[in-house]
Formats: sequence, C-alpha cells, structure tokens
Amino acid sequence: MVFELIFLGTGTSAGVPMIGCDCEVCTSDDPRDRRDRPSALVRYHDGQDPEPVRQFLIDTAPEMRQQAIRHGIKRIDGVLYTHGHADHIFGLDDLRRFNAVMKSAVDIHAEPRVLASLRKMFPYVFTPEKNVNPSFVPTLIAHELEPGRTLDLFGAVWTPIRLMHGRLPILGFRVDYGGKSLAYCTDVSAFPPESYPLLQNLDVLVIDGLRYRHHPTHLTIDQALEQIEQIKPGKAYLTHLAHDVKYAELEPKLPKGVHLSYDGLVVEVRE
Ligand SMILES: [Zn+2]
Ligand SMILES: [Zn+2]
Ligand SMILES: [Zn+2]
Repeated sequence: MVFELIFLGTGTSAGVPMIGCDCEVCTSDDPRDRRDRPSALVRYHDGQDPEPVRQFLIDTAPEMRQQAIRHGIKRIDGVLYTHGHADHIFGLDDLRRFNAVMKSAVDIHAEPRVLASLRKMFPYVFTPEKNVNPSFVPTLIAHELEPGRTLDLFGAVWTPIRLMHGRLPILGFRVDYGGKSLAYCTDVSAFPPESYPLLQNLDVLVIDGLRYRHHPTHLTIDQALEQIEQIKPGKAYLTHLAHDVKYAELEPKLPKGVHLSYDGLVVEVRE
C-alpha cells in the first residue's frame, strides 16, 4: 500500500531562480534552491493490490509538462484546484496529453468561482466549438467543490478546507487514506475557525511559508511555525518558498518534525 505526496514544485509565483535576479539563492548550486511554481501529486493504491495506483494533481503549475516528464507521470485520475492564480493553473493546457495517452477525459475539481475563471482564461478549452480552426484542446470534466463536503476518490476521502489567501477564500485539501492523513494548504495567510477541526490528527501537513518578511496574502516562516504549533501534525513541510529562503541555511534551524520542501521530495504518508 502506497500513500505519498510528491512535491512537483515548491516555489512562489515567480519561481526560483527568478528572471533577472542574481541573489545568493537564485544563483545557488543546491538543487533544493531551484523551485518550480507550486503543485503536488498525491498517490495511493485503490485497494486492489498491487495496482492500480491512483494519482491526483493538486493544481497545474506553468511547469506541469516538465514536472510530469521528470516524474514519469503518464496518467492521472484528476486535478484538484486550490484557486485560480496563474502560478497554479497555467499548465492546464498540457492536460491534453493525458487525454491522448489515457484515451479519456480528465476530471477537474474546483470551486464554482475557480471553474468560472478557468472558463474565462481558457475559452478555447471550454467552448471549443467557437474556435476558428478545429484544434486539439484538453477534454475536461468539471466537478464543483465546496469546503467541508467530502469526496470519495478511489478509496481515499478528500476534504476541501477553506483557507484565506489575503481576502480571497481558497481551498486546501485533506486526504484520509488507510488510517493516515495529509493536508496540503498552500497560499494561505489565515485559517478560518471552522477549518481547524478539519486539520486535526494529521500525519503530514504541507503549509505555505513564503519568506521571513510580512506578506499580505501568505504566511511568513514564523507564522507558519505558529500554525504548525497549533495544528500539531506528525510532520510539517513548508512550501511556496520565495528566493529569500536558502535551503541549507533554514532547514537545520527548523523545529523537530518541520522541514522545508523541495522540488522532487517524496513524502511517504504510509508505506
Ligand atoms: Zn501561489
Ligand atoms: Zn533571487
Ligand atoms: Zn495564490
């Protein structure tokens, strides 16, 4: 039985290195200081040992194509979107390769307002009949998410969790599978009170920890550590990291059980 989360990208919206920046982190040789835009893959067996492994993308970052190639992701069982910001959705077009390989549509799950902005940003995908030339666009089946309303996806229970990203309400996700649980909470600056009960007894928490200085729409490193202290997961990983964060410098200073994420890191929630 496998239950794991793979960090496909762990950077902030500009990625690291950033275009035109010569700072210590943007020019670092440490591969853990190179960060694609944020997204993750959650994988688990669906109970019929040993195959198939079900795998879900959380968000489609602009580097989705390279991420899928790097990790040998040939098929997916769906995409769950946290919100509609460019760094989380601009890889959507590349989902068409999964259509071609799997010979089927791809399920996407998002809140109604996020689905509406996807339709607006990718009109050629969602209203292909209006395209001037017939062209190969992704075939997607949209499903609406609502905070607190669970979904059973091939034997795992997914719970969308309300997060505040500045003033924008977005979603994090909790996944319960085989008696273990993880939550992925990127782009968060505050947890509404009703979300804390959904974050109890977590084995793994992934949480936004942008940088050291205050930011209006993201938790700082210190704020993330305070939240971890309150939520008390078994282990925690910081993500959506800016170029202020140097892996080798910060990682050894973090409290026990708290780590920085990096692109390609695989976290086994259950072996
Ligand atoms: Zn973001
Ligand atoms: Zn830099
Ligand atoms: Zn965002």
